[in-house]
Amino acid sequence: MNINWYPGHMKKTKEDIENNLKLVDIVLEIIDARIPSSSRNPMLDDIIGDKPRIIIMNKADLADKSITSQWIDEFKNRGISAIRMNSKENINAKKIYDLARESLSEKFDKHKEKNIENQTIRMMIVGVPNAGKSTFINNISKRKGANVGNRPGVTKTKQWIKTNANIELLDTPGVLWPKFDEETGLNLSYTHAIKDEILNIEDLTLKFLEKIKEEYPANLQERYGVDVEKPALEIYEDIARKRGAVTKGGDFDYTRTANIILTDFRNGKLGKISLERP
Ligand code: GDP
Repeated sequence: MNINWYPGHMKKTKEDIENNLKLVDIVLEIIDARIPSSSRNPMLDDIIGDKPRIIIMNKADLADKSITSQWIDEFKNRGISAIRMNSKENINAKKIYDLARESLSEKFDKHKEKNIENQTIRMMIVGVPNAGKSTFINNISKRKGANVGNRPGVTKTKQWIKTNANIELLDTPGVLWPKFDEETGLNLSYTHAIKDEILNIEDLTLKFLEKIKEEYPANLQERYGVDVEKPALEIYEDIARKRGAVTKGGDFDYTRTANIILTDFRNGKLGKISLERP
């Protein structure tokens, strides 16, 4: 498996994020709700230390609702607030603000004593590629996209994005690297976080069908009308036949079928599917 994504940048990224951390009250970690483990960075805990954090379970519209709830409970057990999100729809910034405020209650109590009115919360976004960082930032800042100026004492120019809920966001998200094991690679490929497939697309689809026929057989049956008791390869070929993905010579067109199946999954046409459970 070809896994040399990002290696040279790791140290620099880590330092950038550490520098930005000093400027914010809280970190929003954006992950893909379908793959909450594979879409996290293994070193993030180290990098952010004890800075408060909220996990945004993004693309929740494509994930299995009950499993997302289980993950939210799981993160809560680990002492981290998590919230489900569809960044393509209107984002409830107030809800994120309130959650952040809960995590920052100590700081705000101090403010209250000193009678300080300004209760803006400064946040930074981190996440692996494709988790939806840009989509989230664009959406949450829609109404008031203006910069609020640079902060003194900062060597590098930082731009702040104001939102309509007393949140100021650092305009450049911290882009992190995912884990490097095979399972993670597959999950990132299924969800299209890795564009150039680490395996060929036909192998990828076969592995995908093996997983889905065990975990979401009803979804396969409903979408393609196939017998899910059969081995994955036969299901693959049945889908090819049913979708007319057959060459003139009468062979199955595995590539075309792979594209049909993966595109259906990625667009949510296979239903709401979570690939990882807590
Ligand atoms: P980034 O690399 O983390 O900045 O990710 P992008 O914001 O570029 O998003 C990657 C892809 O995921 C794009 O095609 C987005 O349209 C899509 N996307 C982002 N958020 C969501 C979401 O909540 N739901 C769905 N269905 N798609 C999303």
